[in-house]
Amino acid sequence: MAKLPLIDAHCHWFSAPFFKALAEESHMEGALEQRMAKVQESSGVQMPDQDDSVHRKRWLTEMQKSKVDRLVIFSSHPTESPTVAETVATAPDRFSGVAVINPKMENAAGGVQALLVERNLSGILLFPAQHGYRIDDPLVTPVLEQVAAVGGLCYVHCGLFTVPLRDHFGLKRTANPSLANPLFLVPVADRHPEINFIIPHFGAGMFRETLMAGMQCSNIHTDSSSSNGWIRTQPQSLTLKDVFERALDAFSPSRVVFGTDSGTFPRGWREDRLNEQSLIVRDLGGSSDEHSQIFGGNIARLLGLPV
Ligand SMILES: [Zn+2]
Repeated sequence: MAKLPLIDAHCHWFSAPFFKALAEESHMEGALEQRMAKVQESSGVQMPDQDDSVHRKRWLTEMQKSKVDRLVIFSSHPTESPTVAETVATAPDRFSGVAVINPKMENAAGGVQALLVERNLSGILLFPAQHGYRIDDPLVTPVLEQVAAVGGLCYVHCGLFTVPLRDHFGLKRTANPSLANPLFLVPVADRHPEINFIIPHFGAGMFRETLMAGMQCSNIHTDSSSSNGWIRTQPQSLTLKDVFERALDAFSPSRVVFGTDSGTFPRGWREDRLNEQSLIVRDLGGSSDEHSQIFGGNIARLLGLPV
């Protein structure tokens, strides 16, 4: 069997339009450039080059260095989606794109159609906690119907929702995690069996509910991205290895996808997360075939890529 590609199913593109949008929303003093410079200083995060081709080259160098074949890159603000689409168009063999969508925005479904059909993005990302709705609210239906019509993927962020960069810009926290219970996804996934859903970060604190959703619906998957700091919220002590063991049992190895949640420089691509997770899967006795599926094969299949 040919070696499967190494694919990171969860990265944020965090390009210039994203930071500009946060700076515009912010009530910090000074011009946008000054606000961004202040955030660079307080967070240690380097602001991306205004020229996206420079940003793209930086990421491609990271990928080469870590031998990662493809990144699934998210826009994290609607104004960033055209840049993500442009990146995918420039290097379709290295990037797949996913657009953040707020179903409460006017003509959200039309936006999905434009991004997935005309701009070749692979799916959408929903933030129910941040945008203030439940995934089973009928207002989401037109958006999901568009995703279903084009065979797109749907990431649904559940559980805890924090964006440290928003905090650095002094933006108010408005997320309501009680809206983002993975169990709300069960009837939605049943109504849309043709859509593959991905719950990031093993449910970001709603681990039990994520396992339940995964056992209930074969079109729900989970990704392993981020530092998984949510583990600290669990009443019983859990290690990342315990989390993998339970997720692989409840979802089966074919529905767990590797991700890192990489996005900012100077950290770049989080090879440390690959190494940690890869070791865990091997320690748990995963076969090399299962390992290849988790670290690339599964998401390649969901993206419709030839493997
Ligand atoms: Zn993320």
